[in-house]
Amino acid sequence: MIIAIDGPAGAGKSTVAKLLAKQLGFLYIDTGAMYRALTLKALNKGISVSDTQAIIKLAANSTINLINNRDGTIKVTLDGIDVTQDIRQLRITQFVSDIAKIKEVRQIMVELQRKLGSQGNTVLDGLDIGTVVFPNADKKFYIDADFKERVLRRHKESLGLGQNTTFESVSKDLSNRDTIDSNRSVAPLKKADDAIYVDTTNLSIEEVIDKLLRLVNG
Ligand code: C5P
Repeated sequence: MIIAIDGPAGAGKSTVAKLLAKQLGFLYIDTGAMYRALTLKALNKGISVSDTQAIIKLAANSTINLINNRDGTIKVTLDGIDVTQDIRQLRITQFVSDIAKIKEVRQIMVELQRKLGSQGNTVLDGLDIGTVVFPNADKKFYIDADFKERVLRRHKESLGLGQNTTFESVSKDLSNRDTIDSNRSVAPLKKADDAIYVDTTNLSIEEVIDKLLRLVNG
């Protein structure tokens, strides 16, 4: 069974997807982590995110893997090296959408996502899972929340990671990513017609999980 969870940044989809996968005993695939890993590689090599050809070449020559740990956490590796923490850096968050809008990069990532997702029961989270990666997914959810609530959640999360951010800077970053992710020509952020819309603004994580579990099992 494939469960697709899409939605904008900060809506809580990764947290929800991870917990849902754990509860169901499914594999969890964080597709955003893949775009983040490639962004990390580009920045570390000093490649500009606007150098499309160089980024495409880099994507073709990178090995990105996601490993599900027994405790429900996931490990992200880039060319065999653990980059789980590094991909959460602010500089990555700032540039990832510029890399994710490149068509050829998406083709490479989507192929990898399909390969990983076809191994069995899987929960995938992203922006285009229900629309492009697995249009025939068994269950599709679109997780959303009000913009202000998304900023609050991301701000809390980044403070938890020890990052020195302000509400204003997180707000600017999210708004910028929303614009790029929703307006790009390839696979823009969009609710699939057959996805169930879940507004999490006033719901706790537990309430969201309960709701999704009922919908999956029902
Ligand atoms: O979910 P996360 O914040 O890690 O995603 C980072 C970025 O990766 C998104 O803002 C988007 O630009 C890109 N992304 C994407 N397609 C996906 C997952 C993430 O374009 N399936």
